[in-house]
Amino acid sequence: MTFAPFEKLSRIITISLGITAVAYAIAEFDLANLTPLLAALFLFAAVVAPRASIPLPDTDIALTFSDACIYLAFLFYGGPTAILFAGIETTANCIYLYRRGFKFQKLMVPFNIALNIVSFTGAYLVWSILPTTSLVTGTYGSAQHLIVTLGVISVLHFVIASSLLSFIRAKNRLSEAYRSWRRDFSSRAMMHIVGAGLAALVYMLAIYGDVLTAVISAFGIGIVYFSYRRSVRDLKEAMSETERVQKEKSETERARRKEAEIHAEELAASLESQERANLALRKSEQDFQHAALHDALTGLANRKLFHEKLLARIAKYRNDNSAVYHVLFLDLSRFKNINDSLGHTIGDKVLSIAARRFLRLVTPSDTVARLGGDEFAIVLKGPSTAAKAKKVAQRIHASISQPFSLSGNRISVTVNIGIAPADMEYTMPEEVLRDADIAMNFAKAQREGVALFTKDLRTKFLERVRLEMDLSHAIDRGELSMSYQPLVRIADGKLLGFESLLRWNHSEFGNIPPARFIPIAEDSGLIIPITKWILRETTEQMAEWRKISAKTSDLVVSVNISGKHLSSEDLAYDIEYALERSKLAAEGLKLEITESTAMENPEFTLKLLKELKRLGVLLSLDDFGTGYSSLSILHKLPFDTIKIDRSFVSGVGPNGEDSEILQTIVSLAKNLRMKVIAEGIETQAQLSVLQHLGCDYGQGYLLAKPMTAAKAEEALYEGREWMPFSHGDSQPRTSLLKIDRTDASIF
Ligand code: C2E
Ligand code: MG
Ligand code: MG
Repeated sequence: MTFAPFEKLSRIITISLGITAVAYAIAEFDLANLTPLLAALFLFAAVVAPRASIPLPDTDIALTFSDACIYLAFLFYGGPTAILFAGIETTANCIYLYRRGFKFQKLMVPFNIALNIVSFTGAYLVWSILPTTSLVTGTYGSAQHLIVTLGVISVLHFVIASSLLSFIRAKNRLSEAYRSWRRDFSSRAMMHIVGAGLAALVYMLAIYGDVLTAVISAFGIGIVYFSYRRSVRDLKEAMSETERVQKEKSETERARRKEAEIHAEELAASLESQERANLALRKSEQDFQHAALHDALTGLANRKLFHEKLLARIAKYRNDNSAVYHVLFLDLSRFKNINDSLGHTIGDKVLSIAARRFLRLVTPSDTVARLGGDEFAIVLKGPSTAAKAKKVAQRIHASISQPFSLSGNRISVTVNIGIAPADMEYTMPEEVLRDADIAMNFAKAQREGVALFTKDLRTKFLERVRLEMDLSHAIDRGELSMSYQPLVRIADGKLLGFESLLRWNHSEFGNIPPARFIPIAEDSGLIIPITKWILRETTEQMAEWRKISAKTSDLVVSVNISGKHLSSEDLAYDIEYALERSKLAAEGLKLEITESTAMENPEFTLKLLKELKRLGVLLSLDDFGTGYSSLSILHKLPFDTIKIDRSFVSGVGPNGEDSEILQTIVSLAKNLRMKVIAEGIETQAQLSVLQHLGCDYGQGYLLAKPMTAAKAEEALYEGREWMPFSHGDSQPRTSLLKIDRTDASIF
């Protein structure tokens, strides 16, 4: 740091003034003053005083004996000596401070020395020219005079020194000088006053006291001095201890604050994670609730939710009959086939597509549910009439029937829909669903797609349920029996064998026609155990009959096999078992499979038929002409015979008219290199037509009605004729036929 020009100049002036003052003091110095006391005072001022300062706690001020030395010199030896002491005292202090490592700036030491000299000289000169009255100062030598003199000198000394320094530092600005003086020096007046006091005390002791008093006083002052220093040290220690404690305390507080902050942060984080956990919990609760009430695959309501919604609708309708509703029961037909042939993944996709189509065709206030498997249900809120509800159902039916592509497969599904309209008698959802289900089964049976529930349907359904239950016990109760209908070679009336036809003589209702109970047996799955029983009965029967005569030894018994049994894996085994048990040769058994069953899944049929063929049994395609066969598939299937459906035979009129279709079918069968059997021959005309068409075999009331086993056996023993015309008469009794047999080969 360098001084500004003004300050530098001021300092140089002060130093010059100091030199002048010293010159003046030396000039005025009385050599008589050179006494041992002066030497002692000098030593004290130069050596002891700088070291004997007492710092005032919490200030940068220290009480020193230096000023006291100046004032003592003044009292004992006059102003000029005191001026020199002012210089000596400051020089000693600077040297002492320098030794303790204080760094003085340039001109600082001479300036400080000069300042003290100049200010004391000023004070001395002002004091010497002050008019003195004994009133103020007291008589010379009195304590009052001493105090006034020292008071004036010390105050002037202080005022001049501090004002000068403030002025120099404030760079000539008076207001700033005053502020600086008040800030930096006002408190230092104490130092001078204390110094003056000390000087006065020492002076008075030296002048008025005896040596003993002086020694005792000096001792006392010493004790006071040392105990004061001690107490100052203690005070300092106590203060630094307090400071340390405070620091520690604030550090502890800071640490605590920090800890609290960390804690708060941790708390916030834990609250946040708790909140997150709560959210996740709430979400998983919602998911759980959703999962509990919805179908996972389609996202539709599940049975439970459907139950709740329908229950609410029923209750509402019972309170207010204008709150109409309709329940639709939907069952995808042949869905099992899709699952079996294309796999469950495709099956699942089909269900999802169906669900989406259902949703598209209803309103948001309706409830669409998947009840399980391929069964769905819808609560329609509102169509005011059953006819309107039926229209909605028909739209759904039409939409589902639209084929679609999935993984390269062209898939078409159909749905059967039963509708149950709201009714006051319903109290529980199961009752409504049951009736919608009845209607759905009716729609399926009638191949109508959509059916409306009526009470009449329920009666029929209950009957059916009753029959199903009774049928399950029919074998055990001995109510089932086999009827046998001869199959005859048309050309010569030779008996080929019999078709076995199941009869049920119900203990309560009497004979129930197969057309009524066979579908029930098929739907319920009872057909499989029943067919096993039939296979046993018929194979044993035929094995018996084959033994009657040479003529009967190659007879064949035909057994009707239902589609249900065909798709079960047990069929081949059941047949093998029956043949083994009865010891009937395999070619003595023919299996009749309807065309519609065979064509349901042609690949599967082909595989199965090949397996059955390996057993050696014969195969017949029943009810041919009703099942939309694909010719490309038909010729691959290993059937031995084709049975033309009765409807084509009965279509031939009494004069042989309308036989074109029959002719076509016979030709087709021949081209497929299969033997042809015509069913349902009731008239001579029909027989004649078939004869002329070259049909191989015939079956019908005209030839023989189905008969009991006993009757058939009787006929076998009798060697009965089966043709309604005599042998050798190869012409039919009617001469209605004018069919050119070459015309028949149209394929
Ligand atoms: P299906 O296999 O086509 O049997 C021929 C049906 O035609 C028999 O009826 C037979 O009595 C009848 N029928 C034969 N000739 C004539 C005729 O000249 N005129 C008329 N109107 N009908 C004639 P049924 O016994 O009532 O059997 C009906 C259907 O029930 C059978 O048709 C067959 O599909 C099924 N069925 C009968 N028995 C069994 C059986 O043991 N198992 C299985 N799975 N189905 C059977
Ligand atoms: Mg048959
Ligand atoms: Mg048939």
